[in-house]
Amino acid sequence: MPEASGQKPSFSTSIRGRRRLSEKAFEIELLRPDGLRWIPGQRIQLSWEGLEREYTPVSIPGEASLRLCVRRVSGGTFSTFLTEASVGTSLGLSGPFGYFLYQPSGHRPVFIATGTGVAPFVAMAASGVTGFTLLHGVSAPEELYYADRLRTAAVRYLPCVSRIPAGRFSDREIFPGRVTDFVRSRLPEGIYDFYLCGRGGMVTEVISIVDERFPGSRVFSERFFG
Ligand SMILES: Cc1cc2nc3c(=O)[nH]c(=O)nc-3n(C[C@H](O)[C@H](O)[C@H](O)COP(=O)(O)OP(=O)(O)OC[C@H]3O[C@@H](n4cnc5c(N)ncnc54)[C@H](O)[C@@H]3O)c2cc1C
Repeated sequence: MPEASGQKPSFSTSIRGRRRLSEKAFEIELLRPDGLRWIPGQRIQLSWEGLEREYTPVSIPGEASLRLCVRRVSGGTFSTFLTEASVGTSLGLSGPFGYFLYQPSGHRPVFIATGTGVAPFVAMAASGVTGFTLLHGVSAPEELYYADRLRTAAVRYLPCVSRIPAGRFSDREIFPGRVTDFVRSRLPEGIYDFYLCGRGGMVTEVISIVDERFPGSRVFSERFFG
């Protein structure tokens, strides 16, 4: 049962395991507290020894564990702790928080993520959301986490890789550039529902491109940092 703590339902959890996704990122599996309910796209807050950080589950509420996709940030306190802590380590957990939820309309959904910002879209796809275009911006192909699952649910899945070896992939498989370059120069004009998640600079830049090129579109956004 949640413990009362102001507006935040709070729980305890512990680390059940960890799976490497790339040199920089891993999936961490936590005990899913009884009573924790959330909607895919919402975030939770983890706490440990006075530190608190927010994460967006890639798993959905019906699953046995709570799974997070975490990037180990160079010099970052909490992500380093999550990388190194032993299985069984206890943590505080509160939430859920936020309103970054899939809200279908008559317009085509375009999901745009950078790095681990793909997390809410993985959870939305796992909950049955399909038919979206997904642009996933990363610096190298090995950072295309959850690509197979996302490709299955999407009507178009387009990795946007900023540092790609010349000639290794065709433009049809991978866009060799940033997600912002694609939205500015390649996305056909129209009215869309944009869902943006990840680096704050990407979110700001896409919003300004939408203002110029896609009038009438809706924008939902979640900033992880920056
Ligand atoms: C709503 C929300 C949801 C989030 N969901 C996730 C998630 O699902 N997965 C995840 O890995 N992180 C997520 N984050 C970021 C997370 O909360 C931490 O900021 C991150 O783990 C770094 O914490 P730290 O203590 O290691 O580094 P800190 O010492 O707090 O930060 C060091 C610097 O790292 C940079 N940074 C922070 N997060 C990232 C990142 N993901 N990629 C690259 N650089 C980063 C920032 O520039 C920051 O100033 C989310 C943040 C928010 C606000």
